[in-house]
Parts: sequence; structure tokens; C-alpha cells
Amino acid sequence: MYFLADGMLGRFARWLRLLGHDVEYFKQASDAELLEAALKEHRILLTCDLALYRLAIARGADAFHVEGKTEAEKLANIAKRFQITLEVNTKVSRCPICNSSITPTSKDAIRGKIPKSTLRRYKEFWVCKGCGRYYWRGSHWKKIDEVLTKANMILQSQKP
Ligand SMILES: [Zn+2]
Repeated sequence: MYFLADGMLGRFARWLRLLGHDVEYFKQASDAELLEAALKEHRILLTCDLALYRLAIARGADAFHVEGKTEAEKLANIAKRFQITLEVNTKVSRCPICNSSITPTSKDAIRGKIPKSTLRRYKEFWVCKGCGRYYWRGSHWKKIDEVLTKANMILQSQKP
């Protein structure tokens, strides 16, 4: 899906990109600029700001009011609203940093570009087509799994 996140939702934007969604993120944009971009690019505006959410709806933009104390709660809420799958599929994942798509790469292609120990330890690597960052399922992956598991549990518990 196509989203546009407001300045408060940088972390949340990175999560959605990881899940394969195209999320523009404007760190410093006025409400008017956010609204204009959402309308022009047909993106769903994501905001924690209820006033901005209401304004967006009144102006005919698609918007979602992001609620939740933790990332897991926020993810569960947006998943419920848009039927988003809370699982990482690297075939569709986007770069959390720049929002470009990522593509698998070989060990040979990245030799010398990442630490040797990392190269030895992991089998699969990806490179971002936009910013050129490398990705692998490193130690942080456990944390990602934990948050998504928690989000899925919240989602299940909300089902009637
Ligand atoms: Zn990137």
C-alpha cells in the first residue's frame, strides 16, 4: 500500500517499509504540505494527530489515525484497518531507511563491503537499490520477530 507518514512516525514508517509498503516520510512538513502530498500522490496519510486526521478526511484525503503506545500496538491497529500481513517477506520488503526496494545479493558481490564475520555467519544478504545499504538477518532480527509476534497476538485478541 502507499502511505505518507507525518514527522512523528519515522519509526513506524520503517516498520511498514520492512513489511513491504511504500511509505513516504516527511520529517519536517507542515500539515498543509502533508495533505497536499497525500492527495497528489494518492497516499494514505498516517498521523497520530487527531486534528490533522480529521482535516485530511474533511479535505477528501485518505487518512489513518495511528494509535497505540508501542510499535506492536500501532502495527496491530493498522493491520486491522487495512488487512496488512504482519510478517516480513523479503521479496517485497523495502529499505527501512530510504523506501527503495531491496534485492538479494550474493556473498561474492559484497565481499569486502561488510565485516568478514558477518559474511561467514549469515547466508542471505540483500542490497538496497536506492541507497546501497546491505541487509541480513542479524542479531536485530530477533527483536523484529518479537515485535511482530506481539502485534499478531494483539490483533488476534481483538478479533470477535
Ligand atoms: Zn535504501
